[in-house]
Amino acid sequence: MTARLNSASAKDIAYSIHPYVNLKVHQDEGPLIIERGEGIYVYDDAGNRYIEGVASLWYASLGFSEQRLVEAAYDQMKKLPCYHSFGHKATSPGIELAERLVEMAPPQLTKAFFANSGSEANDTAVKVIRYYNNALDRPRKKKIISRFKAYHGSTVAAASVTGVPRNHWDFDLPIEGILHTDCPDHYRFAEPGESEEDFSKRLAQNLEDLILREDPETVAAFFAEPVMGAGGVLIPPRNYFDEIQAVLRKYDILLVADEVICGFGRLGTMFGSESFGMKPDMMTLAKALSGGYQPISALLVSDPIYAALVMESEKLGGFGHGFTYSAHPVPAAVAVETLKIYEERDILTHIRRVTPRFVDGLNKFASHPLVGKVRVMGLLGGVEIVADKETKQPFDPAFAVAQKIEKLCLKHGLITRPLGDVVSFSPPLIIDEAQIDDMMERFGRALDELAADLAEARTIAG
Ligand code: PMP
Repeated sequence: MTARLNSASAKDIAYSIHPYVNLKVHQDEGPLIIERGEGIYVYDDAGNRYIEGVASLWYASLGFSEQRLVEAAYDQMKKLPCYHSFGHKATSPGIELAERLVEMAPPQLTKAFFANSGSEANDTAVKVIRYYNNALDRPRKKKIISRFKAYHGSTVAAASVTGVPRNHWDFDLPIEGILHTDCPDHYRFAEPGESEEDFSKRLAQNLEDLILREDPETVAAFFAEPVMGAGGVLIPPRNYFDEIQAVLRKYDILLVADEVICGFGRLGTMFGSESFGMKPDMMTLAKALSGGYQPISALLVSDPIYAALVMESEKLGGFGHGFTYSAHPVPAAVAVETLKIYEERDILTHIRRVTPRFVDGLNKFASHPLVGKVRVMGLLGGVEIVADKETKQPFDPAFAVAQKIEKLCLKHGLITRPLGDVVSFSPPLIIDEAQIDDMMERFGRALDELAADLAEARTIAG
């Protein structure tokens, strides 16, 4: 990222393989080393302070210095630092967390299974879908449909469900039985003059055509993030999920809501599903479940799915799935404390109070010459950068425009995340209005600086 080749970064280059980087570039440039955090800020090893505009990887909902979470972990570590949930064992934090989650989740979701990451929760969902349909004696009903640009994780099944080609290339993915349908990005993929409603109808029709082509008896489930995060903060067009769910219901296809980013208030509702009238049969949760302080994820399922799991496990003599750290007491205790904080501090009211400032702040950039589209909902935002506003012409991918902006933002004390040509924002949910203004001001400076550099380059070239 920034070339600061001190001894720590030299050691990192010597010994580490990093996720989601160009490994060659990393070798040359090294890491930005983050040393500590406070509220919505993090500090690097040279003492520079940054607003964490993306809450680390979307998850640091309560910022970087919530002592109650630290104490919850410490207290649990002292009492019982580890224990498993295999073979009829349980610990109090796991029990309490399942109860709390089921109580706050949409009413049709009644049972929780725990894992350690979003990927594992989604992999569990893929396996549960198979198990469920085998229990119902529908051995052909196994295919899963996801969307282009969807992100569901990095493990073999979750990466297959993911709709990002780079996550498949050379890993010999996707696995068999995973299909991808249209990405609901109105800005990029609508026909000229097509309304959001008509675009949604067309996508639902395409989905139905795909199901019919494949044979509905072979299609088991549809995966969807309420708002697609890593794909570029893509907010579904109007009526999208109504249209899609009508098709799913017609062919008895399960809906899996991947709420790994949207869950716990990010969109201004406790779950993203509520914002769009989604009625999922399964839901995956992670990230803000523990404020990111401990790795933990959950899969919630409906009664009929749970009943099928019970039936099949009874028949087979056991449910052959689980992780050593499923419902680990330390992350579970931290997650319980996180959910208590959300409730006690009424995090939703806070989010709704500051959201207009965030929405207005980002929307002001819509008129900027480098900005093609601003998408924003709740405290989640994406600014799509274009070379030509009129034609929506993107920059040459080799120019890596969003990464250039990321670097300029760093210079101005702001961490953003480039997602293709989109600069994303998902600040800690505790951010206040003055901090939002500050974040926007820093982003604006970076954007203007790039625009000035480009203008200068054009003058020189011209
Ligand atoms: N689903 C979504 C929507 C995500 O954004 C992510 C991670 N960013 C995942 C799943 C995978 O989570 P993890 O990296 O914890 O495996």
